[in-house]
Amino acid sequence: MISPRESIVCVDCGGPCHLISLPREDGKWYEGDIATYRCRDCRDRWDLIITVEDDDSPEEF
Ligand SMILES: [Zn+2]
Repeated sequence: MISPRESIVCVDCGGPCHLISLPREDGKWYEGDIATYRCRDCRDRWDLIITVEDDDSPEEF
């Protein structure tokens, strides 16, 4: 399971973009899903395809 980051930095203005899309019905994210972010400052929308590198969930030991 992948947990996309809650916010990213806007490529255009450097402002914070927050995750606005929701996970699947089971509440989980998978590689290849689209995570949509909205910039707080310029209102641009960013659609990112989730990869395993986006996972920000804690390491499991
Ligand atoms: Zn922006």
